[in-house]
Amino acid sequence: MTSASESAPSESANDANTSLPRVIVKRRRALPFFNRHPWVFAGAIQRVEGQPQPADEVALVSAEGKFIARGLYNPDSNIRVRLYSWDEGIAIDRPFLSARLDEAIALRQVLFTGDQIQFPHRIVYSEADGLSGLIVDRYGDWLIIQLTSLAVAHRREALIELLNEKLSPRGIWLRTEKGIRAAEGLTIKDGLLSGEEPPRPMFVEENGIQFGVDVVQGQKTGLFLDQRENRQAVARYVTGRRVLDMFCYTGGFSLAAAKLGNAKEIIGIDSSETAITTAKANAELNEVVDRLHFEKADAFTKLEQLSGAGERFDAVILDPPKMARNRSGLNKAMRGYHSLNQLAISVLNANGILVTCSCSGHVSRELFETMLSSVAESTNRPIQILESCGAAADHPVSASCLENGYLKCYICRVV
Ligand code: SAH
Repeated sequence: MTSASESAPSESANDANTSLPRVIVKRRRALPFFNRHPWVFAGAIQRVEGQPQPADEVALVSAEGKFIARGLYNPDSNIRVRLYSWDEGIAIDRPFLSARLDEAIALRQVLFTGDQIQFPHRIVYSEADGLSGLIVDRYGDWLIIQLTSLAVAHRREALIELLNEKLSPRGIWLRTEKGIRAAEGLTIKDGLLSGEEPPRPMFVEENGIQFGVDVVQGQKTGLFLDQRENRQAVARYVTGRRVLDMFCYTGGFSLAAAKLGNAKEIIGIDSSETAITTAKANAELNEVVDRLHFEKADAFTKLEQLSGAGERFDAVILDPPKMARNRSGLNKAMRGYHSLNQLAISVLNANGILVTCSCSGHVSRELFETMLSSVAESTNRPIQILESCGAAADHPVSASCLENGYLKCYICRVV
């Protein structure tokens, strides 16, 4: 599984007493890094001194020669250096990784008390937990990990040992999101990294709801864990009401509406056949089939049909996939959000609840709110934002790396 370019980093890279290769930042470009932004893009670098190999540790230095931070180098990534340690004396070695993991685990022990620790959740969230390039999700006794940087992929043996020591999972499985291999020059293959293979499906509980999950082939790492708290929040608004759950995947919001919110009737729509099959199985598992109807369809087409047929709902949930993959796609994405939200409102009863989400990191809250105000104007339906939510607390946002805060979930009343 290990390719030549992913062998262990040179010994000296981990030795705090060795003078590290130096990456010198361009004049007037150092402030974000002093402020602990962890991504040093190629364009911010003036020159590299020494000959760091891919994944080696380097010192980031200002044009004036001042130490900024220690980081890990990848000449094949746009993010040339990822920063981890702002203390010149603290190397990015095994004890460092161990301490970061302990801090991440300690936070989740605060967030999930008692039986909740069994809820599937994110234990390590990359930059937000000081470990840029590592994501660890826990599903029951298994860990599903994503290595999103080459240098972290190089250190995977140490990380796997540490995760085994600290969490004793039955198995650790690797998944890689589309695009990451090319962006980081990764060749590592997805699959079992340690222990036993996860069962498929695996059965887990979230907020008192049972889910069958495919952690190997399912979207994301099997569930959209980031929406856990929003599902609970939405449930409060739907009691006795008729709900449309657009982009329902395996039924996350639908089941919460039925079981926690006691909604009268829920229609869930998703374009993925597998997702719909699992959603139906989940409805049976939770004994709420009588109130839930799942259907495979394109969201836009279905909304137009429902609107044309005069169907009306008391609540509509919109949780589309990422619409803007990069900055250049932003205008098109905003037009997409506009027409989707406009269509949703066309099937919403007066004073209905609109839950509208965006997981595009490039779409700021301000931009999304401007889109909502424009939709209110074009539909002549005032929109009141009741709750402005983000991802669940096990997906923290680093104040130094706001790019972590990609998820927006607005619960609104539409007059
Ligand atoms: N709300 C879900 C997560 C939604 S993720 C939950 O709580 O678990 C986005 C979903 O949109 C995915 O399941 C994907 O299959 C679906 N999707 C993507 N494009 C679609 C389209 N054009 N119409 C309907 N569903 C779509």
